[in-house]
Amino acid sequence: MLTVAVVGSGPSGVYTAQSLLQQRLVPEVRVDVLDRLPCPYGLVRYGVAPDHEKIKSLQNNLRTVLEDERVRFLGGVQVGPGGLPAARLRELYHAVVYCVGAATDRHLGIPGEELPGSWSATEFVSWYSAHPDSTADGFVTGARRAVVIGVGNVAVDVTRMLARGSTELSPTDMPHAALTALAASEITEIHMVGRRGPSQARFTTKELRELGAMPDVDVTVDPRELALDPGYTDPSALPAASRRNVEVMRAWAVAPPATGRRRIGLRFFLRPVELLAVDGRVGAVRFERTVPDGHGGVTGTGRYETIEAQLVLRSVGYRGVPLEGLPFDAVRGTVPHLAGRVLRDGAVAPGEYVAGWIKRGPTGVIGTNRPCAKETVTSLIEDAPALVRRDVPGDPLAALRAAGVSPVEWAGWRAIERAEAELGASLGRGVVKLPDWTSLLAAARTEGP
Ligand code: NAP
Repeated sequence: MLTVAVVGSGPSGVYTAQSLLQQRLVPEVRVDVLDRLPCPYGLVRYGVAPDHEKIKSLQNNLRTVLEDERVRFLGGVQVGPGGLPAARLRELYHAVVYCVGAATDRHLGIPGEELPGSWSATEFVSWYSAHPDSTADGFVTGARRAVVIGVGNVAVDVTRMLARGSTELSPTDMPHAALTALAASEITEIHMVGRRGPSQARFTTKELRELGAMPDVDVTVDPRELALDPGYTDPSALPAASRRNVEVMRAWAVAPPATGRRRIGLRFFLRPVELLAVDGRVGAVRFERTVPDGHGGVTGTGRYETIEAQLVLRSVGYRGVPLEGLPFDAVRGTVPHLAGRVLRDGAVAPGEYVAGWIKRGPTGVIGTNRPCAKETVTSLIEDAPALVRRDVPGDPLAALRAAGVSPVEWAGWRAIERAEAELGASLGRGVVKLPDWTSLLAAARTEGP
């Protein structure tokens, strides 16, 4: 029997487990999917925006994998500092696949970035997604205008969440405190700002269109910024996705004057240079106007523009963090690998693998993790005849328990789900997520016999 530990139960971890189950070459495989949190699904639970119910329903597909009799979910297991050392984990299984994602956000490196009122988009997302590590609060308190820096899909998500009304948010599973705060928000203007042009924005057209489909919200695009984009004058040279984005924005650029309660302004060719303080908090963002450099990049013009904002969300991408005991490429923020096999000093480390964002960087949509996981599993299966020669404990869970680890198993997670349904019912809403460690672990303990 081949025993595999998958570290991380987000899409890449669960697709890795699924791909292992599908390998007919291995009649006997047992997969333990470990997660630091007591809840499975990673960014599907703690990253996909609450109003994206359809994408969140992917959890049902992931669930069938975790409920397979050859798979165990072991939540609340920290691998690395303060928990189970990677080297010990390696002794307990024939193979370990790290699917730990990209746990932190990239920084702008400009003055004022740390001012109160300036947050990473990740902090905001964690708050409205009820991530138990989220301690921040007061994002929208006292703010009338917001600036979102970056024009990727995360920027679109946080912009949309700021613009949505409480009627649209209350059917979601977002925590009650966040719902109450967003319902009371007085933000009426949100500027989403890209340093390059509209045709170079990273958001996808489906997500972009959604901004324009919200009730009582107007979206504006500055026609001069659109016209500055070389792709606007010659769209034939653009990739299809960028061409579609430009078409959507072209319609917004000529839309009649705004009448909605909230306004989203899409801005381009503005590079953030400083966050400016008013009374010790962020009050505005200073941008340098850029122009296309003819090679897909931009150059500064020495002209500046200031946009008022009492809330700034920096949405400039995620970044992988090193995991103690594993090699790390600090430039790319990933673990060096060869088709998913971890490379130590350029040589394959037998039995250690990576999949997902820690393997290829924080790019792609959820489905991108499927082929990524498959490639890693193909490597693992090729190596399996050699891997199974090594003696490992018959039941790694007993060995984990002996090492002082007491995981939240599937029954504990189901108990959390029940508690979230009960909380929602008590609030007159649907399922409402438990937002902190104490309530999650207390709920998990009610799993029953
Ligand atoms: P992203 O797609 O990489 O976008 C990052 C944005 O930040 C880009 O506009 C980038 O501009 C900008 N940026 C980077 N450094 C900057 C700087 N120093 N100053 C100003 N702007 C800067 O990252 P993301 O939005 O975090 O998304 C991560 C991944 O998750 C993506 O693959 C995304 O599609 C996926 N995702 C998908 C969904 C969905 O499908 N609904 C939702 C959320 C996330 P440049 O292009 O100029 O570098």
